[in-house]
Amino acid sequence: MITETHTYSCTKCGSSNIVRNGRNRYGNQQYLCKDCRCCRVLNPKELGYSAEEREEALRVYQERSSLRGVERALGISRPTVSAWIKKSSFSSTVSSESSSGSGG
Ligand SMILES: [Zn+2]
Repeated sequence: MITETHTYSCTKCGSSNIVRNGRNRYGNQQYLCKDCRCCRVLNPKELGYSAEEREEALRVYQERSSLRGVERALGISRPTVSAWIKKSSFSSTVSSESSSGSGG
């Protein structure tokens, strides 16, 4: 029989010897690892992805111009990525600025 327990482990050293360490300014529960003294939020995905993951997803989307490409590359669901794209500055609308580029 499997009992569901909320067991958290340190994202840095993998230790389960952690204690709650209050909340950060975003209201997310933070934990302190007693082994490596690492203090961070261990379950950020409850509230969403990190800014780094968002940026990466948008970057991949620009490269591949495909939500499916992002989903395959990063494992982030298409509706989630789509919402980020709508929120972000760039969209599929054509800019009046003429595109020209060389070099790299
Ligand atoms: Zn640790």
